[in-house]
Amino acid sequence: MAQLQKPAYVFMDGRLVAWDDAKVHVGSEALLRGVSVFEGIKGYWQHDEREFSLLALKQHYERLKRSARLIQVPFEWSYEQLQAAATQLISKLVAPDKDMWMRATVVAVEGHWGENTKTDLILTAYTQPKQRPEPIDVGISTWQRPGDASQPARIKSVTNYQVSRMARIEGRRQGFSDMILLNPWGRVAEATGACLLMVRDGRVVTPPPWECCLESITADIIEALCKELSLPFERRPVDRTELLVANEACLLGTLAELVPIRSIEGAPLAGGDVLPRLADGFWGFVRGQRKLPGFELTPIVASGVART
Ligand code: PMP
Repeated sequence: MAQLQKPAYVFMDGRLVAWDDAKVHVGSEALLRGVSVFEGIKGYWQHDEREFSLLALKQHYERLKRSARLIQVPFEWSYEQLQAAATQLISKLVAPDKDMWMRATVVAVEGHWGENTKTDLILTAYTQPKQRPEPIDVGISTWQRPGDASQPARIKSVTNYQVSRMARIEGRRQGFSDMILLNPWGRVAEATGACLLMVRDGRVVTPPPWECCLESITADIIEALCKELSLPFERRPVDRTELLVANEACLLGTLAELVPIRSIEGAPLAGGDVLPRLADGFWGFVRGQRKLPGFELTPIVASGVART
């Protein structure tokens, strides 16, 4: 059974606070209407174990700002402030043998129906095993990712995860580790907390955001990697039946990284060598063993000491 870790500290109200004291008021719009947007950001020990770095921090900062703008809440933090806050928290919580996943959440702590809104930036960080994910079996949910006129998937809003949560509960009952959500037109949108990537006849394919999925930073990383490896990469709609006859498929996301999909709705995928090549390139990059144009690893901690 998955359990939420309880790390010693949380960053909120501009400082570190003990986990048990990290509270948001019952009258806040964050609680009343789910007015909150967030980012999940992954931190990796580099291959020489000397530096701990955050992946694509700039892109995550920009998307957080975009999400806040789209739900119309104030966003007052600079990139440098986010980096400094992350350094403060992670240097307290980082462990030598573990990677980390940091959640940066913009929470509406004051305001009413969009008037006089005040927000806080809350950071939590959790340790993660350093291994690559194992292949999983997935199902296709009866729950849908809604369209842009109701709950836009482009906004990384906490309310989008209510459908994801129900799909996961549905999947758990059926013995699946994760579920694929279709869009209102019956095509593939994404998984509950990751995008979907498939390989068909040597071409790497993922649905674009207008098919009702998040604008994925990991998809952009894989696009850059495909360019380096001379693999054709396409963003285009994917029918449910096309996914079922894909050669290879994986979940794609910051936390998911590249989780290979073994079977969909009980039907095994044929398999191939494209995803293993992409996975090798991805892990080479996040551990600092190769460069990728347009993406950076931001050093946060050097062997247990915060970088200033
Ligand atoms: N879709 C959803 C619903 C997600 O939660 C995530 C994870 N952030 C993704 C897609 C993948 O996005 P990214 O690669 O930017 O993490």
